[in-house]
This record gives sequence, structure tokens and C-alpha cells, in this order.
Amino acid sequence: FDDRDGSIWFDGQLVPWREASVHVLTHGLHYASSVFEGERVYAGNIFKSEEHTARLIKSAGTLDFEIPFSAAEIETAKRAVLDSMGIVDGYLRPVAWRGSEMMGVSAQQNTIHLAVAAWEWPSYFDPEAKMKGIRLALSTWRRPAPDTAPVHAKAAGLYMICTLSKHRAEKDGFHDAMMLDYRGYVAEATGANVFFVMKDGRVHTPTPDCFLNGITRRTVIDLLKARGVEVVERHIMPEEMADAEECFLTGTAAEVTPVGSVADYTFTPGELTRHMVEDYDALVRRPSSAAQAAE
Ligand code: PMP
Repeated sequence: FDDRDGSIWFDGQLVPWREASVHVLTHGLHYASSVFEGERVYAGNIFKSEEHTARLIKSAGTLDFEIPFSAAEIETAKRAVLDSMGIVDGYLRPVAWRGSEMMGVSAQQNTIHLAVAAWEWPSYFDPEAKMKGIRLALSTWRRPAPDTAPVHAKAAGLYMICTLSKHRAEKDGFHDAMMLDYRGYVAEATGANVFFVMKDGRVHTPTPDCFLNGITRRTVIDLLKARGVEVVERHIMPEEMADAEECFLTGTAAEVTPVGSVADYTFTPGELTRHMVEDYDALVRRPSSAAQAAE
């Protein structure tokens, strides 16, 4: 991904894509002192841009460092990189990390860096293809307890088990993996939250007490409520997936992705899942002023 044309915003200026490098003794590389965001741009609008920036700053604070740019400056950086790349439908990746002055677990004085990259990611709207549903394996890795890791930060270190889980699932022929939490409850997929449509028409989703309460998750809860659907946030045991009729994932990259199976539990993406795919798509493509008014 490092060998392409374009620019990346790096510590206050746009630099050529191929030259946006860090030193091998970077603290973020050795000790995972790194936080990031994933954002989508639809027709030139960054969806929930301020919320993503706020989460980035908060994630950094959770990892005991302060990004040396204000929220307004980060917004400007995102626009600058999109404009320089001419991207109207794409993905934004801000990342902040501790630098390389001191090597060791403690590196309190190390410089904090910020980079923002963006790339084209056209979003094709083809509900029929989506409605087949993806197949998930059940990961053996569990989301850690809140006193084991900073579970609410979008921190690089938390993705170690996500990559392990997703690689294992892909090698076994699945699209992704579902992860349980430290207690054995259903938590989330490796980069997306999960919802279940139960037989009584209500929608159940795991309580986000040890994983990311995704921006898309919160958006979709509002979309469900706008349709008069009751949403229940609770702890869900894996066996309860047998009682679910439909299942879908939510995330900035995943948008609303229907799920066909999790291990041996099968689902038939139906009307409510289709509504959420469509409602989410309509919301993100709305002109930004209208989308904000709806928030
Ligand atoms: N969980 C994990 C582990 C993720 O990486 C993501 C994607 N950021 C999500 C949930 C969904 O979060 P969001 O809707 O804010 O993209």
C-alpha cells in the first residue's frame, strides 16, 4: 500500500505518498502506542466527521497521549488530503502514535505524530448481492475485559486478536470471524458490531461494555427506532443465536452487512435487514446538512 502516487498529510503538511515513513524504533511500532480512525466519504461528505475526530482525540487520551493538533486542525487536515487526492467517494485513515526519541516501555517525552491518508473507495449500492449474507466463523480469541485493556479506545493493540481471528477465519473459508467476550457473551466481528433480529421482531445487540460502541452501531439503532423497531441492548449467549432469524453487522467499512451464518447458526437476511441496508445507504448519501439535521 506504500507504493502509489498521491499525498499523505503528515504532522502538518502534505508529503508524497511514498515518503510518508517512520523510523523503525518508533514506540508505536514496538509497544502499540497508536490510535486510529476509519471514516467514509460519500459524494464529498465525510460521514460524521466530527464524531470520528472526537473519538480519535479520546482514544489518544485513553492511551495517555495528547495529539498536538486541535479537532479543527484535524478536520482541516482531512479536507486537505481529500482535496489534494481529488477523492469524493473514499476512505480516510487518521492515525496518531508515539515517536522514536526514547526506546523503552516508558517514553513519556516522545513526540506524538499524526498522519491522515485517504484513498478511493467507491461504494456500490447493490442490495441484492449483499442480501446473500456473509459467513462468519467463531473465533477462539475473546475480547478482553475492561480492566485488561483500554477496550473503548480505537487502539492498534486491540487489533492484534482481530487480525489473528480474521486470518484464521479466511484460511478456513469464511469471510470474517465473530468474537465472544471474556465472559463468553457474543461481542462483535473483527471490525464491525453485530445485531440480531429475533422471532418477535425485536432487535437485540450486545451491550458495548468491552468493545467499541461503533458510530455506525449508534446510527443504526436510531434508524431502527425511527422505523418503530424495539432495540434491546443486552448480554447475548452464543446459543441464543439459534433464536435469531436475521443477523447483520454494522461499521464504517462494513456499512450494514447481512450475515448468513455464524459457525453452525444460520440466518435468512429478510425485510428488516434490507430496510437497514437501504436506510443507512440513504442517510450517508444525503447532503451533509440534511444528514446533520437528522442526527
Ligand atoms: N468494532 C471494531 C473492532 C471496529 O474496528 C469497528 C470499525 N471502526 C467497529 C466496531 C465499528 O465502528 P464504527 O461504526 O465506528 O466504524
